[in-house]
Amino acid sequence: MGERRRVLLIMADKFTKQERSLIMSKVRAADTTPEIKVRKLLHGMGYRFRLHRRDLPGKPDIVLPKYKTVIFVNGCFWHGCPVCRHAKIRPKENADYWNRKLDRNMRRDQENYMALKEKGWRVLIVWECETKKKNIPRLGDRLKNELSPEAVSFE
Ligand SMILES: [Zn+2]
Repeated sequence: MGERRRVLLIMADKFTKQERSLIMSKVRAADTTPEIKVRKLLHGMGYRFRLHRRDLPGKPDIVLPKYKTVIFVNGCFWHGCPVCRHAKIRPKENADYWNRKLDRNMRRDQENYMALKEKGWRVLIVWECETKKKNIPRLGDRLKNELSPEAVSFE
């Protein structure tokens, strides 16, 4: 049974219709974060992984020990996506504050990636915009390539 249906059944006689729709909107939001979409995609392709290993620099979102690879699923705005438009739109109000904050995020990201590479990990970045529904097949292809034996042994 899907999570959505299970939640609906549990709520059936306990809440008003309005309360139910509010709760469901939260379930949906939690269920469709970019990170969860990437996990589902990888899982569907047969990869096994661990989550948020605290002992690794930057606490990577997804860790694939067998491939000695970590994956960060990055929000385009917060981490400065090089691809999509969102990243280029920095707030004009309090521009100094935002520039400092976002630059600091990106610098910290780079430090974490470097530290991971020094420990022998491969680092893959998946951008939020790659997890849009229409982009999922392409992302699947990319991850499959990145995790192929040739790619893994090359580095
Ligand atoms: Zn993006």
